[in-house]
Amino acid sequence: MPYPFEYTVVNKSEEKLFRDKLPQVSSSIPELFRTMSIAYRSIEQRNIYGKYGGLRRDNGFETSLNLVWVAMLNDHVIGIDAEISTYVDVLRAICLKWYQFGNSLDACLFFGYYFYLFNSQSKFIVRDQIKDLKFLIDNANRTTQDPATLSLIKPSYSGAWYQTEQGIGDKLTNIFIKNGDLSKVGLPLPGYQITFSETYQYDLRAPHFISEEQIEKPIVQDGKVIISCPKCRQRCRGAKFEHIEMTCPKCSQKWTQKI
Ligand SMILES: [Zn+2]
Repeated sequence: MPYPFEYTVVNKSEEKLFRDKLPQVSSSIPELFRTMSIAYRSIEQRNIYGKYGGLRRDNGFETSLNLVWVAMLNDHVIGIDAEISTYVDVLRAICLKWYQFGNSLDACLFFGYYFYLFNSQSKFIVRDQIKDLKFLIDNANRTTQDPATLSLIKPSYSGAWYQTEQGIGDKLTNIFIKNGDLSKVGLPLPGYQITFSETYQYDLRAPHFISEEQIEKPIVQDGKVIISCPKCRQRCRGAKFEHIEMTCPKCSQKWTQKI
């Protein structure tokens, strides 16, 4: 089964823009992809023997990860004081984009393994790395306002999440995460960690965490359903089907979702 993010159209003009706007990231990310790709193959080999994969820490991956953080700071796509989850999310957007320029799928699958499946361990490692960088990099809190650069790292999900009995989906993309791939968390922010721990069908378009307050639970009564427009929040009523297509009467936004 293909991974949900697997088929993409390679856009060479966007690649040129990426290299122009993010020169440091462009020069450090090939090494990150190389080490991730090797790390992924080593997980696969271990799995043949049914052994626990774990995180390999011996192939240069963490060193190259560290260099990519520095590059992201120097290219001003992130500020040094950003949350760890923001660092990981911006890196996710960068890796997805780099993959779309025709680079390794295995590298992306290792990203999924490391940052979704082993999210708490990887966050711990990243926190340590960033803490050390704070002593090395001064004045790195200025982030870019350039629209072309920002468009390269814009989120690949809409943030208009809905919940069904099967999982959580995005109204404006076809991202859908099954219950078994989610882990409910309470404090400090109630929501769902996306782990892909049941299907291992990593979807690099998805964030690592969705907070409870971003998720709409459709109201169903008498064969009708009430759901809100992802654009203007207008409450819309429609007939209840397993899969519905809706057009907002107020702003004409179209969307589809499962119920
Ligand atoms: Zn609307």
